[in-house]
Amino acid sequence: MDEYQHILVAVDLTEESHHVARRACKIRTTNNAVISCLHVIEPLSLAYGGDIPMDLSTIQEQIQETAKTHLAEFAKTLSIPEENQHLIFGRPETEIHAMANQINADLIVVGSHGRHGLALLLGSTANGVLHGAPCDVLAVRVGN
Ligand code: AMP
Repeated sequence: MDEYQHILVAVDLTEESHHVARRACKIRTTNNAVISCLHVIEPLSLAYGGDIPMDLSTIQEQIQETAKTHLAEFAKTLSIPEENQHLIFGRPETEIHAMANQINADLIVVGSHGRHGLALLLGSTANGVLHGAPCDVLAVRVGN
């Protein structure tokens, strides 16, 4: 029996996403699995709250449009159909868990920078995803 049937690859849409995706694709091939991708947009209001006294909605819309285009380009390179491309607002860890539950993913693939020292204490998305994940998590080492 194939080990994984539905893989969720979470991408921050940086260059490193391609490295993470290549791993996910190899697992897709060996398991004959379906692959879905997710990018989470962190709302500016969450990041900056009331710190910036201006309407952020136009900038937020532009960020969303750009992310949508980049996610579609990214998905195309992996032959991921539109219905398996997800763009969501929220906090990455929370939304990655929620999406994994929603699509019944049995493997989440994320990138991991292998941080240490203070950066590790501050936490990483990969750490956050690992804790409380509803399924297996593969953290693909990226960067330094
Ligand atoms: P970070 O710890 O933020 O450097 O991110 C490491 C990995 O977490 C990335 O390679 C992605 O797999 C995932 N990730 C980070 N931010 C996002 C995001 N906004 N949406 C989806 N996945 C993300």
